[in-house]
Amino acid sequence: MDISIVVPLLNESESLAELTERVAKEINDLNKSFEIVFIDDGSTDGSLDILRKLKKQYPQIRVISFSRNFGKSAALSEGFRIARGEIVITMDADLQDDPTEIPKLIHEIESGFDLVSGWKQERHDPINKTIPSKFFNFITRQLTGIKIHDFNCGLKAYRSRVIKAIPVYGELHRYLPVLAHWLGYKVGELVVKHHPRKFGYSKFGIKRFFNGFFDLLTVLFITRYRQKPLHLFGFMGLGSSFLGGIILLYLSILWFQGHGIGQRPLFFLGVLLMIVGVQFFSIGLIGEMLINTRDNSVEYTIKDKID
Ligand code: UDP
Ligand code: MG
Repeated sequence: MDISIVVPLLNESESLAELTERVAKEINDLNKSFEIVFIDDGSTDGSLDILRKLKKQYPQIRVISFSRNFGKSAALSEGFRIARGEIVITMDADLQDDPTEIPKLIHEIESGFDLVSGWKQERHDPINKTIPSKFFNFITRQLTGIKIHDFNCGLKAYRSRVIKAIPVYGELHRYLPVLAHWLGYKVGELVVKHHPRKFGYSKFGIKRFFNGFFDLLTVLFITRYRQKPLHLFGFMGLGSSFLGGIILLYLSILWFQGHGIGQRPLFFLGVLLMIVGVQFFSIGLIGEMLINTRDNSVEYTIKDKID
């Protein structure tokens, strides 16, 4: 199988027929074999029935239907798990992503990239979404060092080995380029067309920005310290204890010289820093113990084999 199109959807019944038709047309023109994997993430608007009907007309369709809404990451994760194509393309179901970009994405992958992320340079979304998103992309770019503009674009193409190597859970789908880059894959970017939402409504509210921030912390942590939490917590613990130690040493000298130190704010600061330091250390050690007790086989990924 050449191409898998993976489409997560939540209540997008009005778009599905048009989306399928346009996607099928684009790939048929390329003369490639393909499948469209729809992951129905707990829709309640009859999306599943529509997919069932579409399947009769388009045998390339496969559908997974979740028992309830589990979120876009879960949907993508299941789609990635069952996708059979050499190249896997994700797109939103709401027709905001343009199917005519599919051939261009395929071309980019074929020219050597492992992941190509869409960039909605000209974006048709409400301002309460575009401005936070700009900010967000900026922060992510700075903290991860990856020079792409639109981390959260739904339209992305992957070489199949990339998605098979990355576990997607929580809401980490926003950071797939970061995770792929960290594993050493070649990540690129392509400017794509973006349309306003025609039917239905956006499924993500303002909450996404808080969650997105927490997820960024998670990604930074797991990409850098997943296998060595003590390197981070030990460092913070040592720093804090060291500072506390100096303060207490200084106060001890004063005490021996006959000064009272029990009421000084500095005394409490010193004690606090010592305690916090020990706690950081302990967290790091517990982290190391967790790593030791679980299966570590996913520490590396393999790019190619010559047998
Ligand atoms: N989606 C999903 N599960 C969810 C939320 C969204 O499968 O819990 C799908 C949704 O149907 C759409 C895609 O994810 O196909 C992107 O969602 P949406 O268009 O609402 O996000 P936005 O374009 O506003 O960022
Ligand atoms: Mg959308």
